[in-house]
Amino acid sequence: MKLNSKNLSDHVDTLYDAIVVGGGMGGLSAAIYLARYGLKCLIVEKGRGRSVWMQDLRNYVGLDPNTKGSAVINHGTKQAVDWGADHLRGFVEEVIDEGETLAVRVKVGKKDSVYPVFRSKYLIAASGVIDVLPELEDMQNVYDYAGYTLHVCMICDGFDMWDQRAVLIAGTEGQINAAFVLNWFTPYITVLTHGLVQVSDEMKQKLADHGYPLYENKIVRFLGENHQLSGVELDDGTVIDATTGLVNMGSIYHNRYLKGIQGLEWEGENLVTHGLAQTSHERIFALGDLKQGLNQVSIAVADGTMAATQIWRNIRRASPPRKWEE
Ligand code: FAD
Ligand code: FAD
Repeated sequence: MKLNSKNLSDHVDTLYDAIVVGGGMGGLSAAIYLARYGLKCLIVEKGRGRSVWMQDLRNYVGLDPNTKGSAVINHGTKQAVDWGADHLRGFVEEVIDEGETLAVRVKVGKKDSVYPVFRSKYLIAASGVIDVLPELEDMQNVYDYAGYTLHVCMICDGFDMWDQRAVLIAGTEGQINAAFVLNWFTPYITVLTHGLVQVSDEMKQKLADHGYPLYENKIVRFLGENHQLSGVELDDGTVIDATTGLVNMGSIYHNRYLKGIQGLEWEGENLVTHGLAQTSHERIFALGDLKQGLNQVSIAVADGTMAATQIWRNIRRASPPRKWEE
């Protein structure tokens, strides 16, 4: 059922089998399977996740390539709740390892917030990441293009950039290297650093050798209409023609609530998992973008299936068999 600030006090005494942090692609898949295994699960979703920002899901087998991430989330949330999962709009602030249980503290409500604590046997960390975008005075101008013709995921959208004039926006020298991968899809690449990078002579030479112009000035605005990019204006008045772009400025990882947990293995900000989406902590699973590996919907969905199945196995094996008794 859907929980809210009015009915949530009825649920704080529930010991959930699993709490799923993040009701995005992976978390909803996990919740659907958990619910259909007859396990009690709670999804906590803060809203405005990465998948809602996805304007079209291009490469998921069998789905129309114009399917919006938000449509998948709305449908998937209904599916999970209909099978019996609880769903709460809230922000997970902290998880405390209590040994046999995990205590999950949630902030509910922006104003007059309340901070219920829910408990579960297992935790599924499915809170994903969010892409860093170039900061402009008018951020609405960035959102008008980001996710449409200004992409953040080469695997997802490289195909849609084929042989177009593209800008690559990087925030570090390392991130400029994406140009030498993006050129599989288009060689007409102009690199922009938005004033953030001290570009080495070696990198300048490499870009020049490939014929990729480099502009180090700040971006003032993106040009175009109806989400279709036509160019980028820099603060010295230069206008670069481009019908598409890739922002490669890194990600913010939604993992703060896990930082107090002992025994989790990290690779940078990504969780390391083994087998069926299991972290190095026996009660914590991690899915999708938050764990190491490909950041794709298909992967997150499969991870959710695996985590839920392993949790079911663990709980089932620890339970007495059901006998046919009148
Ligand atoms: P998400 O789907 O991001 O779900 C994580 C959820 O956790 C979010 O809803 C977030 O709000 C929530 N959350 C975070 N922190 C907390 C917290 N503390 N408390 C409560 N909730 C929290 N992939 C493809 O496969 N094909 C594509 O065509 C494609 N195109 C894309 C286009 C764009 C513009 C973007 C941004 C991404 C695209 N992706 C695409 C990538 C895809 O969106 C992700 O790989 C996928 O959503 C990852 O699933 P996830 O479950 O790991 O994370
Ligand atoms: P398949 O989808 O089986 O694809 C393999 C293909 O290879 C077949 O089309 C076959 O014709 C072809 N093939 C085989 N040999 C050759 C050859 N030598 N040359 C050429 N072609 C060949 N899964 C779920 O997730 N949820 C469900 O609710 C669910 N319900 C199911 C209900 C039923 C009745 C059945 C039978 C299965 C169900 N499954 C369900 C399981 C699901 O169908 C499989 O897990 C899934 O299809 C596996 O995908 P695959 O690509 O490995 O194999």
